[in-house]
Amino acid sequence: MIRFGPSGHSASFYNEGNKHTPDAPRWLKEKGLTAFEYSFGRGVSIGQAMAEKVGAEMRKYDITLSCHAPYYINLANENDEEIVKSFGYIKRCIEAVRPMGGERIVFHTGSASKGHLAALNLALKRMEILLKHLDDEGYSGYILCPETMGKKSQLGTYEEICEICRLDSERLIPTFDWGHINSYYGGLLKTAGDYRKILDYTFERLTDKQARFMHIHFSKIQYGQAGEIRHLGFDDEIYGPDFAPLAGLLKEYKMEPVVICESRENMAEDALLMKGMYEKS
Ligand SMILES: [Zn+2]
Repeated sequence: MIRFGPSGHSASFYNEGNKHTPDAPRWLKEKGLTAFEYSFGRGVSIGQAMAEKVGAEMRKYDITLSCHAPYYINLANENDEEIVKSFGYIKRCIEAVRPMGGERIVFHTGSASKGHLAALNLALKRMEILLKHLDDEGYSGYILCPETMGKKSQLGTYEEICEICRLDSERLIPTFDWGHINSYYGGLLKTAGDYRKILDYTFERLTDKQARFMHIHFSKIQYGQAGEIRHLGFDDEIYGPDFAPLAGLLKEYKMEPVVICESRENMAEDALLMKGMYEKS
């Protein structure tokens, strides 16, 4: 089943009197949404009692929860001590997500400031070690979702993300952030054909399961020479990308992704717009 939901809370969530994440599942359900992404971007800081409360409400209203790991993760770091820190962030996310009932952990793979190929090769080695390390320490059973990035200085073109996901077809699923892909290439995504090329590549490189159940981030994003500048809302008419062409392809390819909206302020509303486009396509 395809699912739609926001990353974090819309302005309207607070305006309607809700205060914290345990209030979100009921609110999302009433709106017709079925997914939620919890951000640990600036650190994993949820307490055990709150995590359990969130988990209970998510289950009650059948909302699928994913989390976004801290932005400081860098698998392309040459420094072994820094890598231990990156592994630690992933482990802390898993510890937090356990009581919350989530399975997917979205993360940025790292910096490409010293060149994409060198960064990819290093990240591939680190990723293999990380997966083994998670098994050895009892952190199995979770799905890591490396994300496509929007800036040229970051590792994470869709080809690089596919390459990383080829390491493990069970535990690695790509996060395709289409706003990032569009920004990285300065406005690549215009027609259904533009999306189709990337989907075809992905189905060719990954297993059917990895491609069909991919994690999706979608928002319109302003970009410049170096790629991504800032996230916008669906009211943007300049930068895009537009979700409608992708919606039709998701149906055609029988895909069942979790689609998370990262618009500014109105992420729940824009997630609903996407759901509507999907249903009409
Ligand atoms: Zn991200």
